[in-house]
Amino acid sequence: MSQPKAPSILELYPEETREAAELLKQAVPHMVRHDIPPNPIHYALWYTYCKGQEPELNRRLDKIVKDFASFPPETAAKLFRDYIIRGELEEARTGQQQVLELVDDIEGDVSRSVVGSQAYQASLSQGLAALHEPIIDDLPNVLNELQQSTQLMQEQQEKFLYRLRAAQTEIQNLRNQLERAQRAATLDSLTHVFNRHAFTRLLEQALSADHHGLALVMLDIDHFKQFNDQYGHPLGDRVLQHVGQLLRDLLPPRAMAARYGGEEFCVILRDCFDMETAQHFAEQLRLKIQALRVKVRRTDQILDTITASFGITLAESGDDLESLITRADDALYQAKRNGRNQIHPPVPEAALSA
Ligand code: GH3
Ligand code: MG
Ligand code: MG
Repeated sequence: MSQPKAPSILELYPEETREAAELLKQAVPHMVRHDIPPNPIHYALWYTYCKGQEPELNRRLDKIVKDFASFPPETAAKLFRDYIIRGELEEARTGQQQVLELVDDIEGDVSRSVVGSQAYQASLSQGLAALHEPIIDDLPNVLNELQQSTQLMQEQQEKFLYRLRAAQTEIQNLRNQLERAQRAATLDSLTHVFNRHAFTRLLEQALSADHHGLALVMLDIDHFKQFNDQYGHPLGDRVLQHVGQLLRDLLPPRAMAARYGGEEFCVILRDCFDMETAQHFAEQLRLKIQALRVKVRRTDQILDTITASFGITLAESGDDLESLITRADDALYQAKRNGRNQIHPPVPEAALSA
């Protein structure tokens, strides 16, 4: 899906020196209070915190300082990537694409020039043969020199071409690396659907573009704690991976799936103008999850059936992220209360038998 361009760092921090100094002054006491070492990443995070432009970042920072006695450096680095340099990744990618195109152009020019100098040398050799009978005594020597210098020029160009091709491969590798890093920053590593951070951003963007035809489906695996307790966490992880795969397989065009929390997933449906369409999608998914057969690899034993409960809501004008998620969550809670392995609002009987 094409996403609007993320703002660059400069666009995110347009404040004047005095205002910036003020924000930094506010940031430092936070860092001191929570015993956070002064380094550029921490300054940037707490500066952004004081600016208050990323409410999700503030919530996460609040939670981290509440839950941990220290501020883990990996968490700081991840937050820095997610909230501060995020747009720059996209810019760097665009920059590299431009360099690649430029190198492609140069390579084309040089190739043409090598072919040209080869032709030049061939015609010169022919001329030299024809002029074997000297008209001017020195002419063959002059032409010989010319031929040698042409040969040298050609060799140099070939070397240059070789170097350019190596640079092209290197740029391509860098670009692939960057794309992998970019994917890793937005995808959940276990299930390969979007992570929660990417999801909230995508949903926010979708809501600000148009409420019309937007539905949110929230699903949560039933009694998953019990499953983990009985069969172990690694097998639980495999179930989550299967559910991620099913989601990716069943997603309609323009829809996006995300892992919202431990065993909870969300799907943003587009071009979905009525509850029946969303219910139809959720029902398909419910049946596929119920049909999953998880085997213990060592013994081939097939484990309990996995089920999930679903809450659905359609976006209404005036909805924001919170109101939409709260409604989907309430609906999911109802599905749980009504006995799990079902969708709320429930699919009408008539539609099921149709
Ligand atoms: P309910 O039907 O009400 O949803 O019950 P539940 O047991 O699924 O819900 P609860 O919220 O009590 O427990 C969720 C469990 O999900 C707890 C935790 O062990 C498991 N879980 C969360 N994240 C992961 C994960 O990444 N891997 C595995 N294997 N389990 C996870
Ligand atoms: Mg659950
Ligand atoms: Mg849950």
